[in-house]
Amino acid sequence: MIDYQQAIHCIFKTIKPLNPVHVPVAEGLDRVLAEDVFSLLELPPADNSAMDGYAFDHAGLTDGVLTTIGFVPAGENFSAPVKPGEAVRIMTGAPLPEGVDTVVPIEDIESLNDNRIRLRKRLERGANVRVRGEELKAGEKILYQGQHLDPAAIGMLASAGITEVCVYPAPRVAILSTGDELVELGETPDSGKIINSNAHLLAACLRQDGFIPILLGIARDQPGELEACLRKGLDADMLITTGGVSVGDRDLVQPTLMEIGFKKLFWQVATKPGKPTLFGTIEGQPVFGLPGNPAASAATYQLYARPALRMLAGHSRPFAPTLRVTLAAPLKAGGKRLHFLWGNLIIVDGALQFDPSQRQGSGQNRSAVGAQALFPLPIDSPALATGDSIDVIMLHPPFGQNPSNN
Ligand code: AMP
Ligand code: MG
Repeated sequence: MIDYQQAIHCIFKTIKPLNPVHVPVAEGLDRVLAEDVFSLLELPPADNSAMDGYAFDHAGLTDGVLTTIGFVPAGENFSAPVKPGEAVRIMTGAPLPEGVDTVVPIEDIESLNDNRIRLRKRLERGANVRVRGEELKAGEKILYQGQHLDPAAIGMLASAGITEVCVYPAPRVAILSTGDELVELGETPDSGKIINSNAHLLAACLRQDGFIPILLGIARDQPGELEACLRKGLDADMLITTGGVSVGDRDLVQPTLMEIGFKKLFWQVATKPGKPTLFGTIEGQPVFGLPGNPAASAATYQLYARPALRMLAGHSRPFAPTLRVTLAAPLKAGGKRLHFLWGNLIIVDGALQFDPSQRQGSGQNRSAVGAQALFPLPIDSPALATGDSIDVIMLHPPFGQNPSNN
């Protein structure tokens, strides 16, 4: 049996990013760039005004009074050159007319008679002017291979005239539930049967993380059927099974995978939950055999499958962040396996606290409901007290707060 650190190292050194694809920029959100990106355009395309105001030649300013001779809106060019002592009313983003270099904002002038204005303040030459190319130069490297595309990056790509990007695709993940006791949601679970909730749980995890679930349904604990179902998952980017991976007589996932070319990389990790977790590859495709108990499936998805999927998707830092927080309630001593405890992240006086879930049973979905973090309670840890400092794995950001009354 290996430990948790060995398990995640094994995943980290095994998984390589998927082959890149070209997609329209709008579909690049949350993907990782597979190559550097260079601007096709210069931005701004010409010197332009950063404010609504009046454009003038700074050197031609004598007594702070200017004569206005016209107007230039954004998207148009002012036809005539502007002489010293003259000003042109200008909108934000409009190109500077010939002969001017400075803009006075509308709120800093006083209107006089005869189309004249007076500046209320002294201005530096070039004030309120955005210089051609100051944001982007044509041919400049603007984003890097390995960079995650957030909405601002999508906006930047669009502003640089880029219509397509080369990214690592979102992994497609086949999910197979195994077990004679399972029926699908919508069927009546009579005679001791239970509903295949794991498929819904995992599909939801995948969708939340931007990956693509492919539901293969239920395989009975019967080698022929199991093998046929497993084979259906081999054209996805990852195969995840649940159940049937422990040491029971009907736990057939591992031997059946072996029949179809599975290279086992680890099985059994000294953690609770998640001890029976199985990981390996079939012709390079990663395969996870997750435990059947719902909260164990949820935990092992977060601890192992999610980082592996982020690696397939090209992320260079695939593991969830670990944060030092304070414990909001006491915890019993640790045992012989690293014990992952579900809990909420709460904000108290601007600092994060970990509030352990009341239920931690791996057989129950509700242990993980609402949890934003997992706390790995170390092997043989003493009991912990409220206020103790602990390191937790943040799965999701904490919920926000309402405005205070004062
Ligand atoms: P197993 O690992 O196959 O022994 O499964 C352990 C327990 O997990 C079973 O007794 C079921 O109660 C539960 N279980 C297994 N598969 C699922 C599933 N797809 N959905 C919900 N519960 C499951
Ligand atoms: Mg089973």
